[in-house]
Amino acid sequence: MKKRTIRDLAPAEIKGRRALVRVDFNVPLDGTRITDDTRIRAAIPTLRSLISGGARVVLLSHLGRPKAKPEAKYSLAPVAARLGELLGKPVAFCPETDTDAALAATKALADGDVLLLENTRFLPGEEKNDPALSKSFARLGDFYVNDAFGTAHRAHASTAGVAAFLHPAVAGLLMDAELNWLGATLEKPKRPFIAILGGAKISGKIDVIEQLLPKVDGLLIGGAMACTFYRAMGLETGKSLVEEDRVAMAKDLLARGGMRLTLPHDATVAPSLERAGEAKAVPRNAIPKDQAMFDIGPQSAASYSRAIASAKTIIWNGPMGVFETPPFDAGTRAVAEAMANATGKGATTIVGGGDSAAAVAEAGLENKMSHVSTGGGASLEFLEGKKLPGVEILDEAD
Ligand code: ADP
Ligand code: MG
Repeated sequence: MKKRTIRDLAPAEIKGRRALVRVDFNVPLDGTRITDDTRIRAAIPTLRSLISGGARVVLLSHLGRPKAKPEAKYSLAPVAARLGELLGKPVAFCPETDTDAALAATKALADGDVLLLENTRFLPGEEKNDPALSKSFARLGDFYVNDAFGTAHRAHASTAGVAAFLHPAVAGLLMDAELNWLGATLEKPKRPFIAILGGAKISGKIDVIEQLLPKVDGLLIGGAMACTFYRAMGLETGKSLVEEDRVAMAKDLLARGGMRLTLPHDATVAPSLERAGEAKAVPRNAIPKDQAMFDIGPQSAASYSRAIASAKTIIWNGPMGVFETPPFDAGTRAVAEAMANATGKGATTIVGGGDSAAAVAEAGLENKMSHVSTGGGASLEFLEGKKLPGVEILDEAD
């Protein structure tokens, strides 16, 4: 079901009204220095749109994992400063979240002003989705906007509960873009449509495999999860990471996936991560007993790249190897580069997953993908076909 967005609001529903916007400003900090402001930048289109419409913008976000009480190191104050730089206008910061003082600060705003309130997770009711807190949040705005896709899989007071008390409740532009790329685009993909799945564990991705397998023309496996499939195929996996309790499941998937499910034909192995210098490529049926697979091999990287080049829609989730430790980043890099090239030739390329997105950013290829999701856990749950509480509560588009 399509959700109403800020684009669907009439000018009179925006101008002079307090927009209570839940954003995901959960940025990494080194002291008070923001080391990556991607998440702040991702909210800018929504904020600019509201500002130019004359809204009085009130922002709610969480940061880190404080234990339901204030902790100075999780204050959003540094974020207000950075947001001000990005918007080119001052952003007021209130060191409280839902108090009378915070309420007064929202009422003191003029059209186009921006106010950031303190970390929602300083409040005990936030993660409990406490209705009393939700109601208290609802006082802070005249309408609600959820642009926090990265937190939409959590039913918290500021991401879901508040919408029971505040309408209109609409999606921001980032939220809308994420839902369109991960939802609508993959429902009606241009074909061939392939998925590339990697990462550490088959157990974490099993529901994604189940969802995608009937829809795709090909599903290419990499990462440690390839080893659980190898085990299911009766191959020696040495010291590789294998989930013993998922071998039966892998067998079942192999039987059902048939030709559509591809496992890497070769592996890059080493005695240990510390001994990365001894890395070598072996065929998948020749993994030494005393070594582990840490990446897909070069032949697989080349054949996965060819598959990507001949597809029209590609979704990628999960690195092909231990990309944090070279040379085991080679498979992941090859996939990222092949996807970037495919985008240039008109394919739709979508990256979901925190570590995959980090690998793409590290390769400097973010802008060469059709879409890189800002939500790790949320994008995974969405691809699993789960309903996201922070989306469900929004008004439906007519
Ligand atoms: P994402 O965050 O993109 O969804 P995951 O969190 O599922 O990805 O997996 C990423 C992790 O998987 C990385 O830390 C990477 O080191 C690890 N990984 C990938 N391949 C292997 C492997 N062959 N052996 C051990 N760990 C692996
Ligand atoms: Mg991860």
